[in-house]
Amino acid sequence: MISFNKFYQQISQNRLSHWLNVLPAQLTHWRETQLHGDFSLWKKTLDALPKTHVSTLDISESVSIGTQDDISSGEFKRITNLLKKLKPWRKGPYHIHGLHIDTEWRSDFKWDRLVPYISDLKHRYVLDIGCGSGYHLWRMRGAGAKFVVGIDPTQLFLMQFNAVQHFIQDPNVHLLPLGVEQLPELKAFDTVFAMGVLYHRRSPIDFIYQLKSQLVAGGELVLETLIVDGDENTVLVPGERYAKMRNVWFLPSCAAMCAWLERCGFENVRVVNTDITALDEQRKTEWIDTESLKDFIDPNDASKTIEGYPAPKRAIFIANTPKA
Ligand code: SAH
Repeated sequence: MISFNKFYQQISQNRLSHWLNVLPAQLTHWRETQLHGDFSLWKKTLDALPKTHVSTLDISESVSIGTQDDISSGEFKRITNLLKKLKPWRKGPYHIHGLHIDTEWRSDFKWDRLVPYISDLKHRYVLDIGCGSGYHLWRMRGAGAKFVVGIDPTQLFLMQFNAVQHFIQDPNVHLLPLGVEQLPELKAFDTVFAMGVLYHRRSPIDFIYQLKSQLVAGGELVLETLIVDGDENTVLVPGERYAKMRNVWFLPSCAAMCAWLERCGFENVRVVNTDITALDEQRKTEWIDTESLKDFIDPNDASKTIEGYPAPKRAIFIANTPKA
């Protein structure tokens, strides 16, 4: 079984110790009642990964673990076959002993767009809400963060994270299978990231308050979300589907998003980047079996989704909680 004991032990010694008031009970409940039907299959896959000697590690420019020369060709084949059992691999890319996990998303593009604008992560406690397989967790650690926690309720992503962690073995990077709504008001993180999650929330204002309550005074929020063109009164609530996704609720304009953040008590709110998602950032690869961006866009008009809404455009917002 997946155990979180090491995490509990670690936070008992650091500024997250008050999380222990609720977390072990939540995760025990999760383990007893919430496990995905394929969970034990995925766990077997994880347990079958060979222990390897990792000769080199880069998590500051990419996520590249070891070289192909560290392992035998049999081990390479075995790792490839096992990791393919954890498809779909959406967020990445990862390089593991020469194996290129060419994920659906080039999550490194998003990282490159935001990294010039964020506060130096050195020595910081960092939380990534809705972290997927945890690609950005590694890049945060690579940028010097002291303690990195990701949360994501999708269990396959926890397995993918653990597969990468199996090779890296960094005690200061963790992923917990939680939704944002399960977090107590920790007020303990120096930086909170929430990227690609707001539009999946039915109550975006409650969501912003939940993000705020994870931050220390004077902390930094990095929020990335789908946006539409328009003024501070413009918000798109699409119909049943947006770009074939069923669970999309609020797409604000940049001005509306800034107004929401300010209304919730954030200061120094700014938009640092906007970007139309290009077909080289989200595309079908051999690591996913489903459709990708190309199939979600109107084949005759790339400025529209298949449903006729504005095509995906994303913005990165940075804001601070008031200083104490
Ligand atoms: N942050 C990553 C992944 C975004 S995809 C990036 O920007 O590349 C959105 C993620 O939000 C998915 O992995 C999904 O599992 C997660 N998610 C869905 N509901 C959530 C919730 N209630 N709390 C936290 N994360 C959630």
